[in-house]
Amino acid sequence: MIVVLKENADPGREKQLIEWLKGMRLDVHISRGQFQTVLGLVGDTSQVDMDLIAGLSIVDSVKRVSENFKYCNRKFHPEDSVIEAGGVKIGGGHFAMIAGPCSVETEEQIVAVAKAVKASGADILRGGAFKPRTSPYDFQGLGGEGIRLLEIAKRETGLPIITEIMSIGELPLFDNVDLLQVGARNMQNYDLLRELGRQKKPVLLKRGLANTLRELLMSAEYIMASGNENVILCERGIRTYSDYTRNTMDISAIPMLKELSHLPVVADPSHATGIARLVPPMAMAAAAAGADGLMIEVHNDPLHALCDGAQSLTPAQYDALAGKVRAVREAVR
Ligand code: PEP
Ligand code: MN
Repeated sequence: MIVVLKENADPGREKQLIEWLKGMRLDVHISRGQFQTVLGLVGDTSQVDMDLIAGLSIVDSVKRVSENFKYCNRKFHPEDSVIEAGGVKIGGGHFAMIAGPCSVETEEQIVAVAKAVKASGADILRGGAFKPRTSPYDFQGLGGEGIRLLEIAKRETGLPIITEIMSIGELPLFDNVDLLQVGARNMQNYDLLRELGRQKKPVLLKRGLANTLRELLMSAEYIMASGNENVILCERGIRTYSDYTRNTMDISAIPMLKELSHLPVVADPSHATGIARLVPPMAMAAAAAGADGLMIEVHNDPLHALCDGAQSLTPAQYDALAGKVRAVREAVR
């Protein structure tokens, strides 16, 4: 249920109303917009007398929220959320370019890629340290050592870093990581989501390989309901009957998610297509569709990459793409 307050509602009465609602064992989520304040009520609202609340002098309207996701629902928070990661803002008109290799391999590699993407205007460096691989015989990532190398690249370039967390036991290793990635395969690892909700670092939550938008939003809800509202959604392609691409990039998910939720939406055209030459057109499409950022795999030597070389851009290709994305954003502004 949401309670929309009138403009210039008396703060004393507002406080009284919030206390009264909390007294009914409801969580009250307060969203103060430029013009209106919206109180989002979470919990058993079946006992709440809507007419009584609607009749209060400070109340503009009362509505039930039928969707199961509340905290991430745009009805709870009509304005775009702006999430901050290592000083970089994402959402609400702030567009972030996240770039870097699929996996951290060596210090030389991650520092070289970090310097290159920074020179091309990237805002955040990516690099997997704990890798969820389909085969247990494939390169599994450098683990804690990979994070240490990311930290070196961060020190050398000043770029904030994002890397994937697969298990909550590893969280202490992520102290200097600015943005925690939950990968597609863990989108419904509810224990992990709940634990990430109990800490404050922002989380980039990737859509599962075969998950609906509602399921993605319910997963975001796990993190938010546990206390961490700093969530960024990521469309990274889904499994379909597509035979020539790794996945199918669901461009329509971007505007739909932004309609349903106030959370920023980032698009990952690298995993969506699996093919480097398809990354630029899909990146531009995502930017045109209203994405709040892009996550792009870049490798200094794609042919010899230990993971996802086929979908990795070279630094020069990334540089060209970054310019095109800026042009697209300008064109649709
Ligand atoms: C990744 O970003 O490297 C990754 C493993 O992505 P996804 O979880 O989307 O497959
Ligand atoms: Mn990858």
